[in-house]
Amino acid sequence: MAIFAPDFAGRPPTGYLPLDSSTADVRPRRSLRESEKRYRNLIHNLPWALVQVDSTAMLPIFDDLRCAGVSDITSYLAANPALMFHSRNVVRVTDANRQAVELFGADGANRLIAPVDYLFAASPDTAKRVIAAHFDRRRNHSEIMKLLTFDGRLRDVQLSVTYPTPPEPLDVTLLTFEDVTERLRTEAQLRQVREDYSRATRIATLGELTSSIAHEVNQPLSAITMNAETSLRWLSRTEPDLAKVRQLVDRIADSARLASQIVQRIRTMVAPQLPDPVALDLNAVVEEALLFVRHDIEMRAISLSTALNVGLPQVRGDCVQLQQVVVNLLVNSLQALAQAGTAEGRIDLASGTADDDVFFSVRDNGAGIAEEDLGRIFDSFFTTKPDGMGIGLAVCQAIITAHGGRMVASNHPAGGAVFRFTLPAARP
Ligand code: ADP
Repeated sequence: MAIFAPDFAGRPPTGYLPLDSSTADVRPRRSLRESEKRYRNLIHNLPWALVQVDSTAMLPIFDDLRCAGVSDITSYLAANPALMFHSRNVVRVTDANRQAVELFGADGANRLIAPVDYLFAASPDTAKRVIAAHFDRRRNHSEIMKLLTFDGRLRDVQLSVTYPTPPEPLDVTLLTFEDVTERLRTEAQLRQVREDYSRATRIATLGELTSSIAHEVNQPLSAITMNAETSLRWLSRTEPDLAKVRQLVDRIADSARLASQIVQRIRTMVAPQLPDPVALDLNAVVEEALLFVRHDIEMRAISLSTALNVGLPQVRGDCVQLQQVVVNLLVNSLQALAQAGTAEGRIDLASGTADDDVFFSVRDNGAGIAEEDLGRIFDSFFTTKPDGMGIGLAVCQAIITAHGGRMVASNHPAGGAVFRFTLPAARP
């Protein structure tokens, strides 16, 4: 049997609630009233927004479709958008609890008593899947969807639909919405932290990577030296053994190729092909890169000035690679200041626009770059440091070039080195 039940807000009844007949018949009226009260309380205190939907209008439509041999409702809806439109307007919300009123930012439950169209305003595909699950006589359907509230907010909600079990005569469907916007945001932040961490590890391992590869590069280089010296000895004989020399020169060429492959491998490891470039705010890239060296800067009492021009046009590129460049330049400046033993160490950062480009520069007040080194400072393996690898600037330049930019090094007239790169401004 079905009893006449009050709605969620305790207003006059709007629909029947089917109850099990054997218990409903024998219960005294008072017990029934209490049961209704419990039901109301339960619905009201549910932590989720809940709406009751009358989808009886769909039953004859579904029957007709089945008679016509339709079994794949999803394809049918895709081919017949008019049915979709019709369904969203004949299926109606008949009741809503307090949380639903709150979630939708409505001024009262009455606002929600309407065709279901508004429920799916921001997620039309969800409506299709809800109808399909009903057609397929499923008991539940659940998914995360976007919900547009009456006051124009977009929320992420976990939708759960409970369909009536056939052959119930009344087609009362219950829809609950759990607002998961904050949860998804927290998960996204967590993902971001993980990505930042792996980015930090990548930048930090750059140094370790290069020194471990030094060993590998040294091997073919020593082989080249040894074979070249032996060749010279064979050539300086009164009767040079050209066959022997040819053999040695072949080996030299092999070793050189191997060394170049190793260098190539380093390049692709630290400056891989530009992944899908994205529009970036160069100042934000610099600010984030600063986090990696800020501690060192503070420990050494270096005064850092940042003249980052606000409102820079964006650039297109890979954030991690550009950060590698900035961190590398900053680490070089820190090392230059430590080497020079400058009493009042300074690092000045600047960004701005130059023609159609965006520029970034790092200047320090270290000893600067020897004039004769200016032309080879970006060469791989050029270093003036006892434990240097001479790879950092070569990688920086490769990254900037891959981004369509240019990088130059100079000495400031007032002393110290200046490194500056430009990147083309992204088209709006
Ligand atoms: P590494 O730091 O291993 O030497 P880099 O490619 O980063 O490799 O730098 C190459 C060389 O460029 C350094 O050895 C140094 O001579 C010079 N250099 C880089 N940055 C500076 C700077 N800020 N001031 C002076 N010299 C610099």
